[in-house]
Amino acid sequence: MEQLDVAVIGAGVVGLAVARAFARAGREVVILERAESFGAGVSSRNSEVLHAGLYYPTDSLRAAVCAPGRKRLYAYCAERGIAHKRCGKLLVAADAAQAERLPGIAAQAAANGAEDLRLVSAAGARRMEPALCCAAALFSPGTGIIDSHGLMLSLLADAEAAGAALAVMTPVSAIVPDGGGAVLHCGAGADAFAARANLAVNCAGLGSVPLAAGAWGKNAKRPCPRRHMAKGNYFSLAGRAPFSRLIYPLPEPGGLGVHLTLDLAGRGRFGPDVEWIDEETYTVDPARGEAFYASIRRYWPGLPDGALAPDTCGIRPKIFGPGEPTADFLVAGPETHGIPGVIHLLGIESPGLTACLALADHVAALAGSEKTATSRSVKST
Ligand SMILES: Cc1cc2nc3c(=O)[nH]c(=O)nc-3n(C[C@H](O)[C@H](O)[C@H](O)COP(=O)(O)OP(=O)(O)OC[C@H]3O[C@@H](n4cnc5c(N)ncnc54)[C@H](O)[C@@H]3O)c2cc1C
Repeated sequence: MEQLDVAVIGAGVVGLAVARAFARAGREVVILERAESFGAGVSSRNSEVLHAGLYYPTDSLRAAVCAPGRKRLYAYCAERGIAHKRCGKLLVAADAAQAERLPGIAAQAAANGAEDLRLVSAAGARRMEPALCCAAALFSPGTGIIDSHGLMLSLLADAEAAGAALAVMTPVSAIVPDGGGAVLHCGAGADAFAARANLAVNCAGLGSVPLAAGAWGKNAKRPCPRRHMAKGNYFSLAGRAPFSRLIYPLPEPGGLGVHLTLDLAGRGRFGPDVEWIDEETYTVDPARGEAFYASIRRYWPGLPDGALAPDTCGIRPKIFGPGEPTADFLVAGPETHGIPGVIHLLGIESPGLTACLALADHVAALAGSEKTATSRSVKST
């Protein structure tokens, strides 16, 4: 049987950042990816926003990794020439009742490490963005956008330079505990094989809960969560967006509300909405456009008829269902699930892209690799 030191399952932005952290700490790393290439999952279907971390509850893992992750990513992008832009974001209140919530959001955001937040009057917001209509706004200058594919390429290059290997078209079907490590059942049919890893890190995005369910101890501290999926649909805007900053309404249950994101070329896209689904599907129903027009016109009354076209969608890997309280990111090591040599990353939806480097450090610390990293003087970017 193949013997591995660290096996990272999934080559999305989080798996690549985790693989990079372990490889740079001197561990032998293999990344097992079921698709033909890296970044084929959630990491290629998101808003590409580097979040400031406005809403996460104090003491949550999301709060702990979002702002530090964003700062690390800005430094990393600058160092590696990865395209990004600190364009800022306006969180807009549609009416007086929503405006009253902004100071509370600003206070929580500041506690989470978001910097230089500024409450803006309706007139002030209009001076910043003349097409905007709102009762008041919160300006977050530290929010930005990033080329997520460029980021993943760079993380993979770093991991490979430190000795990691990427095995594509290698689905993992089971993680079986094995004397302090794990045997991974990989591939399918004639290509099926098993490999033993000293440490298996499950970063399989939408696939991580099904894998974790089979490698979760009977006497675990908490049950393995159930997988839920919430599709986020996007509609693109014909022509140039009349905004230079990201525009967000106040959040809605399950998501951040239909907001305007800009890509690095200045093209505008609205979304994602929240559509709870049972099966993985990636079609955008044009009929959902009607609700988009209504939501967007609350802050941009000038949105012309016929300007929106169905675009891409992404699926949030959630560990809470509709109507249930929002769950935090769950990075579950042996302490949580009772199986040595296995770490599961579950429910890594937004801000997983923003937080990838900080999440990778968190996983490395959980695995006890910190000491090795320090002794090798690994740079923290
Ligand atoms: C609509 C939407 C918008 C978002 N917007 C933002 C945003 O603006 N900013 C932000 O910070 N975050 C955002 N996020 C969250 C962010 O995209 C995710 O947190 C992040 O991409 C998760 O990365 P990952 O590596 O965990 O998962 P993935 O990118 O899904 O990677 C998992 C990988 O595992 C592979 N895999 C799955 N099962 C197996 C298996 N059994 N064996 C082997 N390989 C397997 C998959 O093929 C995939 O490549 C958004 C998410 C969504 C859905």
